[in-house]
Formats: sequence, structure tokens, C-alpha cells
Amino acid sequence: AVMVAASVGAISEVYGDLQRAAGATERLLELLAAENLVPSSNTPVPLPAEPKGHLEFEQVCFSYPSRPEQRAIADLSLDIKPGSSVALVGSSGAGKSTLVDLVLRFYDVQGGAIRFDGIDIRDLSLDDLRSQIAIVPQQPVLFTGTVADNIRYGKPDATLAEIEEAARKAYAHEFIERLSEGYDSFVGEGGIRLSGGQRQRVAIARAILADPTLLLLDEATSALDAESEYQVQQALALLMKGRTTIVIAHRLATVVDVDIIAVLDHGKLVDTGNHAELLQSSPLYARWASLQFDEGSSSADELATV
Ligand code: ADP
Ligand code: MG
Repeated sequence: AVMVAASVGAISEVYGDLQRAAGATERLLELLAAENLVPSSNTPVPLPAEPKGHLEFEQVCFSYPSRPEQRAIADLSLDIKPGSSVALVGSSGAGKSTLVDLVLRFYDVQGGAIRFDGIDIRDLSLDDLRSQIAIVPQQPVLFTGTVADNIRYGKPDATLAEIEEAARKAYAHEFIERLSEGYDSFVGEGGIRLSGGQRQRVAIARAILADPTLLLLDEATSALDAESEYQVQQALALLMKGRTTIVIAHRLATVVDVDIIAVLDHGKLVDTGNHAELLQSSPLYARWASLQFDEGSSSADELATV
């Protein structure tokens, strides 16, 4: 545990910007700890004056260095228009997390390209690229500090009024006000313990404050308490609205709401469409949906008519 704490400290010193963009996740810290840093362009292309958040995958191929014979992503093309949302679905190992990691440039593609507003992301500086991105991870880890500090991470110069407004939009304001010290309550190691749903809403408030052009969302697989469940769903819907979003989806309520569902299998994009279309056209999707239905709270009949 000591070693983990030490390495996390060292990492956050070096990668403050990235952490601000991303929020800490175990996977993220793992990736940062691994020496897989991608080369930075010596002559980076500047971001457009007003980034739109157009994300294009063009024939992207990628294998992990440790498994060069296995394609984790195979010839994948997907055009995500500014402000639109894509849900990635597929069984474990299909390539969903890898695709998100490629957008963050934890690794570089080996074939094809990923473009942000028409610029190959390898031609942007890492800071510029990551400044455009916020992540809401499956199980957000809050750092030790106040609730306000944790939200402010998304925008270091934010005023208290801005922090509170973001918390309201994230359905977090009410529970924060009920904490003994409100926004000044200490969380993280040795602090107040928040529920999973509360931590998620703090992470959402952080992302709302950061106001990124690109949102990467990894939905919780485990059930939240009923109140949090509803509020997290509402907060996410607001956060995603009009913002380019890639969501690793585990909930039917989310997939029925997005613009495009992308079904992945063994690193390939096998089907795209909306929920109703895919139920008809994609056996793989229909199977995925029925599995979510078994676990989930929503009625399949109800959803099929959306
Ligand atoms: P998903 O998120 O859809 O479950 P992943 O993107 O995590 O899938 O994994 C895609 C493929 O890449 C799988 O075959 C997985 O075993 C492999 N993979 C994932 N991470 C690594 C890694 N760090 N090193 C080697 N192979 C990996
Ligand atoms: Mg994954």
C-alpha cells in the first residue's frame, strides 16, 4: 500500500494536467505507471480557436506491445460528429476500454488515424489533446481534500459560485449541503465516506465545470442505490447534452438515449444503429441487451417502444 501511495504521489506531480482532465482511476494510474508514454510531436499543431469536438476513427488498428499477434482494435472506422454521443457495447475483451485509451493517447494506433477536429491526435500536444477531454470513470476515486477542491479540479480558477452551480447540475448540491461541513467537508483518505453514487456525482460536477468538448464515460456496472441511480442518470444526461461523448455503456437507459450505438466484437466494429434497429438487425446486440435486461431494472418492453 505504501508503494502505491508513493507512486501515485509521484505520478500526480508529473501528470497534474492529465489528472485534472481525467480524474484518477485505478486503470489510469496503472497506465501512467506503465512506461508506455507516447512520443510527443516536436512541432505540434495548435488546437482550433473554437474546438468543436469532431472525433473520427479511420481504419484504426492496434495491438498491445505484449501481444503483437492479437489485434485489440481491427480496422475500425467511426465518425462521431460534434456534440453527438456514441455508446460502445460488447462483451468483455471486445476493445471498448482500448478504444477510449487510444483517444487519450495512452497508446498510439499502429494503422489508420484518430482525428480531433480534423487533426491527427498524434500531431497535437498531449496537453492540448487532454485539455479537451473529461472522463467520468466507473468508480471515481476522490483525492484527499475538500469536496469543493475535488470539484474545482475541473477548473482550477473556478469561483465558489461556479462550483456550486456545477454541483447543482450534477444533482450533488443537496447531499453536499447535508454533509457536516458542506463543501468544506474532507473526503478521500481519512475523510468522510461517500457512497458510490455520491462519488460519481462529484466526478460529474467536476466534468461539468471543466466543460470539455469531449467526454469519455465509463458507466458503473454495479447497481447504485435507487436515489443515486436516478440522479446519476439525470446528471449524465445533462452532461452529455450537446457534447461529443463516448460512453462504455452497461445500462439500457443509456443506450436508448445516445445517437449511435456501436457494437464491438473482438476489436471490430460489427454493427451500428439505434436500440430499436439493432434489436432487429444485430444478434450480438440483442444478446447483449437481454443480458443487461436480466440484471437491470428497466423493462425490455418499455424500452423497445422508445
Ligand atoms: P473491453 O474494455 O471491451 O472489455 P479491452 O479493451 O479491455 O476490452 O480489451 C481488448 C483486448 O485487448 C482483449 O483481448 C484484452 O485481453 C486485451 N488487452 C487489454 N488490455 C491489455 C494490456 N494491457 N495488455 C495486453 N492485452 C490487453
Ligand atoms: Mg473495459
